[in-house]
Amino acid sequence: MIEQINGGKIPQSQLLIDKQSGTGLALALAFTQYLMCLDRGETDSCGQCSACLKVAKQIHPDLHISFPSYRVKSGEPSSSANFMDKWRSLLDKTHFPNYNQWMNHIDGVSKQTQISKSECRSMIATLGLKTYESAFKVQIIWLAEYLGDAGNVLLKGLEEPTPNTHFLLITEDPDSILPTIYSRSQSMHVQAVGDDILSNWLISEQGANLELAQQVAFLADGNLSIALEIKDADNSEDVKLFEEWLALISKNAMIPLMNFTDELSTRKKEWLRHFLVGTLSYLRECTIFHYDESYTMRIPGESNGFRERFARFIDHEACDGMHRAINKSLYHIERNANLKIELFHLSLTLREILAKQTLKRKTASSS
Ligand SMILES: [Zn+2]
Repeated sequence: MIEQINGGKIPQSQLLIDKQSGTGLALALAFTQYLMCLDRGETDSCGQCSACLKVAKQIHPDLHISFPSYRVKSGEPSSSANFMDKWRSLLDKTHFPNYNQWMNHIDGVSKQTQISKSECRSMIATLGLKTYESAFKVQIIWLAEYLGDAGNVLLKGLEEPTPNTHFLLITEDPDSILPTIYSRSQSMHVQAVGDDILSNWLISEQGANLELAQQVAFLADGNLSIALEIKDADNSEDVKLFEEWLALISKNAMIPLMNFTDELSTRKKEWLRHFLVGTLSYLRECTIFHYDESYTMRIPGESNGFRERFARFIDHEACDGMHRAINKSLYHIERNANLKIELFHLSLTLREILAKQTLKRKTASSS
């Protein structure tokens, strides 16, 4: 994109197709900043001039942003303008927002969201005016799939834009973009972020440790936005659930155990993946504590004593067996195994390992 600016050939309408990385908006803003920077270098904006700072805070008068929103009053069309403060406050927190975060941020989960016709009309009107401070005007449309048919209003603007006006449309769902918009824009695919790059970024920019970074990178599957969400998630509920599961396994309570895994199997695959990877960290912490009780286990949530008892009970070998069994299940779940059967089978394998461990401890204490 930067080559386009330096080569003087900037398409007037760009469609950034960002199915997986969650970085489309950040890319569009970086592009805008480079375009408007008053002291731009060959490959990057200066980051310090007044234009750069205004773009970064999204208060540059020549930068316009639209995103999905809902009607604040019945009878009035939805408009991004009503949510601009909210938008800026979310962007203060993360450069890589996703739709769910945005909805939670504006209490929009149960609302009907869109980018309305009336908003499209005002985009065209605004872009028809002269620029204020920059030589360029930029209109970013975040999640352009929410335009729906309203996108038709933009066609003329995309086709015969006023000079030095640029549209940057970001979409996660290119199939929902009107073909007429598609054909009038130059599209670019935003690549998913590789696991190694993502994990290094989490370490250097987000202060994660190596283990957490690798785990999060694996779970996020190339999506930076989801990576941040997972990293900051409160996992104490998951821990409680795992402890409940372990207790049922240890008690040999077959029917409650089956009900338990049946319930787990109704959850979303992404959640299960996250949950099971979390159990691996739990086991690792227990193993360290097993050999050194002065160690403070890094397990979220308050301990009710279960984790300490469990850690004293299992040794390295048992832990290793459980680790392997859980990893195997993760592998099967990725390949669309039947969740009910897979999770119950995992319960039985874990039960076998814990039974062996009980026997081992009895033999050790009687000899
Ligand atoms: Zn600058």
